[in-house]
This record gives sequence, structure tokens and C-alpha cells, in this order.
Amino acid sequence: MTIQKPKAIIEDIMIPKDRLDKLNKMLESNRSRVMKDLAIRQTAGGRCCRCELVPTKIVKYKLQGITLAERYCTSCFDKVKGELV
Ligand SMILES: [Zn+2]
Repeated sequence: MTIQKPKAIIEDIMIPKDRLDKLNKMLESNRSRVMKDLAIRQTAGGRCCRCELVPTKIVKYKLQGITLAERYCTSCFDKVKGELV
């Protein structure tokens, strides 16, 4: 069974370069997973829903008053964007 998704709204996740650099440096460090999750959430709102990298795009669906949001990194977004429109 396929569920018909409502029209996707695609937005860029804008992360200033200095914050992204700081985040990437932190992710390469040996900090705990919990600390890394928190850092990604604070900077980008969450991880890529496919591969858990830092996302660059957010895809939103409005469904009966609720907004669903999925985040994607650049390479995962390239793979799914054909299905979105
Ligand atoms: Zn990804």
C-alpha cells in the first residue's frame, strides 16, 4: 500500500559557515554520541533522516494541521528529490 503524501515544501537549512565548521570539528572529535546529537540539533534541528549526517535541506508536509518535517543531507536529498515533486 502506498500512502499519498501531500505536496512537499522544500527549504534550505541555512547554517553559517563558522557554525558549520565548528559543528564538523565537534563531530570529528571523540565526544559522546549524545553530545554530537545535541550539537546537530542545536545547529541544524536534527540529523539527516537517511544517513544521520548534518542536513542541508528540510522537507515539510502539511497534513491535517500538523507539519511533518524530514531533514536530508545534500547527497540523500539528491537521491529523493525526484520523488518529492
Ligand atoms: Zn543523508
